Parts: sequence; structure tokens; C-alpha cells
Amino acid sequence: MRTHAELSAGAPLWLLAELTYRCPLQCPYCSNPVDYARHGEELSTEQWRGVLREARALGAAQLGFSGGEPLVRQDLEALVSEARELGFYTNLITSGVGLNEARIAALRDAGLDHIQISLQAADEEVSAAVAGSAKAHGRKLAMARAVKAAGYPMVLNVVLHRHNIDDVDRLIALCDELGADAVELATCQYYGWARLNRDGLLPSREQVARAEAVTQAWRERLAARGREMRLLFVVPDYYAERPKACMGGWGAIFMTVAPDGAVLPCHSARELPMTFPNVRDASLEAIWHRSEAFNRFRGDGWMKAPCRSCDERHQDYGGCRCQAYLLTGDPAAADPVCSKSPEHRRIEEACAEAAHRSPPLEHLTARNSANSRLIWRG
Ligand code: SF4
Ligand code: SF4
Repeated sequence: MRTHAELSAGAPLWLLAELTYRCPLQCPYCSNPVDYARHGEELSTEQWRGVLREARALGAAQLGFSGGEPLVRQDLEALVSEARELGFYTNLITSGVGLNEARIAALRDAGLDHIQISLQAADEEVSAAVAGSAKAHGRKLAMARAVKAAGYPMVLNVVLHRHNIDDVDRLIALCDELGADAVELATCQYYGWARLNRDGLLPSREQVARAEAVTQAWRERLAARGREMRLLFVVPDYYAERPKACMGGWGAIFMTVAPDGAVLPCHSARELPMTFPNVRDASLEAIWHRSEAFNRFRGDGWMKAPCRSCDERHQDYGGCRCQAYLLTGDPAAADPVCSKSPEHRRIEEACAEAAHRSPPLEHLTARNSANSRLIWRG
């Protein structure tokens, strides 16, 4: 007999296609799994085409091409074209490294709707220290200009952490100069490589408050100039009282297909002590509606105290399962970010430490295959 959760699962609205874990950069906050080097062969072009067809048939309408760096895949244009024919709204989430004018034109001809480029910092020096590449910053700026020249709406995305958050003023000025239509200033979510490097990345509460005030002042200046550049500032959940409604609820609207074909309810779910189904073995329809993995945290039947009887449980769904697991060892626990969680002191301790410590940027563990293999082999 099907459970309540299975019966109540609607359609996935979002598909995140992580085409590859390969990436020329080495950001220490990358959301890819820390043991990504152990995951097997990437899906072929034909297998990805099949994934896109199945996801569209299931009802998905928004498609993000991501990675690693999706531009590493030379079949990206062919996949964009397939997605366009299927009727997806497509977004390329890229570092900009691997882009050039010819590829921008080819992606536009294939029907790509939207491009999001990440920046690491306002200047070359910090950018090089974060990304592990001296050339990346200049390349990103050139490509952001080329993307705008090609007529694309452009979102610039900056992951904020304690080493670049005090530069928010210069970062926003740079995005303004590049002609961004929207800027996302989001502090790290502490899973994947960011969890490994958390103590060197977490900004202090004062840093966050200052950056938020600077962002607000920019909003007012931009409005006075009549410049339409939307500024989104995402406060780290470590400084919030309640967790985020992670992915809008487990298996509710969002589906990620990892490079090797594993299907995940969110892009960091691979860190959980669970087995995830693979598109090589089952249809997306069966995975979405009937797999144990997608049903495990659907609805609220899985919740423990204090979430089980909490009147906010249908607003935040108990928060992030990965954060709960990484901080408490129990994937069904309340997200410790919540002030009602019995483990909330773990968050308070990390925040208290962030107030007085300042580990150098060079001490962060770079996200690369050598480090990933070391971590995986323990
Ligand atoms: S976060 Fe950095 S290392 Fe990770 S995929 Fe993006 S550009 Fe590459
Ligand atoms: S106790 Fe659980 S459901 Fe209630 S607010 Fe906290 S995380 Fe959300």
C-alpha cells in the first residue's frame, strides 16, 4: 500500500542537472560532496537527453545546468538545445571559466534563457586565493561583459564568507559596472566543502550586520538612479533563529541528478548515510514517486521531537536534513540552527568562535580531486 507521503507527492518543478564534478577552480566552499572523486563515470549525452525527457514528462519546467563546471562538457550546447525543444526554461550556472564569445553565441542559438556567473571576490588577489587560479578573475569579468553584450539577462552570484564579506561595497560596485540585472550575495551553507572549512569561512555577526547595511544603502542609491539591479542578501542561517525551508521540503519540488546519474532530493544529500537511486537503473517517475530515498523525509511522519509537535513544522519542514546529520549524526533530528533544537548550542559555539578568531585564507582546504581522494580514503 502507498504511504501518505507517496500519494501526496506532486510534480517536481525544478531539475538541477549536475553535468560533471570536474571544475578548473578549487573553491573551499564548493557544495559538491567532499568525496566527489569516488563517484563513477559521468552520464553520456544520450543518457542526459533521456533524463531531460523524463523530467519534463514528470512536470519539471525549470532546468539548471550546473556542476562542477558545466562548460567542461562539450555537449552542453546539444543538451541546451534538447531542453529548449522540450519546453524547459533553462539557466546556466557557471564560474565563467571555459566560456568564450563563440560558446556564448552557440548557447544563445541553442536556446539558453539565462546565465548566472559566480564571482569570488572584488579583486584579483582574493579571488586567486579562493579559486586557486590567478587568471580566473579577469576571465570572469570579460565573460560577464560578453554575456551582457550578447543580450542575456545576467545574475552575478557571490558566495560571501569572512574573507570577502567586508568588501561588499566594492563587490556591488563591480556588479553594477558589469551591468548585472541581479546580484545574489549569499553566505555559505555549511555542507560539502564549506562544512569542512566552516571555521575558516564563517563570518562574525558584526561582519554580517555591516554587509547587510551596506547592501541596503546600495539598494537606495540604485533606486535613486533608476537603475534596476536587484540585490538579494542571504543571511547565514547560523545567525537566524529558525532554519530555512530546505528545498521547499524534501522531495516536494526539487530534484538533482548528479554527474553519475544518482538522483537526489537536494544537491548535498549525498552526504547522508543513505543510498540514492540512479537513472541507469530506474525511471525518474519511479524514483520521484516510489523510491525509499525520496519518500524518507516527505511529509512530517518522520519527524522527532521537537519538530513533531511544533506548529512551525509546515513552514520550515524541520530545516536541512544534511545540516542535521552533519552536526548531530541523526538525519531525522531538528536542524540545530533552530533555537528550539536541543543541539542548538553547537551553532552558538561556532558563532561565538567566529567573533574572535581570524584564520588565514591560506589555511582553507582547497576543493580538488587530490584532497577529495585523501578525504574519501580517510
Ligand atoms: S564552487 Fe567553485 S569549485 Fe565548486 S563547482 Fe563552483 S567554481 Fe567549481
Ligand atoms: S522545532 Fe523543528 S519544525 Fe519547529 S521551528 Fe524548529 S526546526 Fe522548525
